[in-house]
Amino acid sequence: MENSEMNNEKLEVCLQSSEFRNIVLRKPASIRNTNIGINTISFHSDLALAYKSFGYHASLINKACNFYEYVSYIQVVQNVEIQCHLNKGDIVTIKEVDYGESYAVIKGIFKHQNNDGYYYPFIYVDWFEDTYKKHNKLDCPIFVLRHDDYYCKIFPLTVIDKVQKAYFVHDCNARCKESDHFLENNHYLKNEFFFAAV
Ligand SMILES: [Zn+2]
Repeated sequence: MENSEMNNEKLEVCLQSSEFRNIVLRKPASIRNTNIGINTISFHSDLALAYKSFGYHASLINKACNFYEYVSYIQVVQNVEIQCHLNKGDIVTIKEVDYGESYAVIKGIFKHQNNDGYYYPFIYVDWFEDTYKKHNKLDCPIFVLRHDDYYCKIFPLTVIDKVQKAYFVHDCNARCKESDHFLENNHYLKNEFFFAAV
């Protein structure tokens, strides 16, 4: 099933919000490369919670999910159409009822077919948790990147807030090499200088 058409598959996905249009999932990704366990209890309960957030309460029959490298869509903000692109690996601001405005890494972009036969787009994230401490030399806030399932990790694509990118850098220690970070250290610094110019 691999041909160039498959790599630019245009899909109709039923929208969870009237502010989002023309959602196109692009470049199918292997689930193995994402390190996401889709056959876990937490994956299924997080997916059910994501459906509940836009009013679907039925238990999910279909377990299969299709993952993609990136998604493009149009977001309508105060009658202005904004063309947005979201890639796997992006760090973004998310506005979500339970978590307020927070930061997360996009670990997966996927669609799931609901009992009604329609496909819905979702994101799978790792959250940055604020330590409310600052780096003593750089004066940047320190965050911890959580890989566990303490927080809900699956949300409708529509929680993304205009794909406002956030900027984080690894809080490197002696075990980090130039481009090979020691990721067992999950401390990151939020670079706030990128926001200052806006
Ligand atoms: Zn590092």
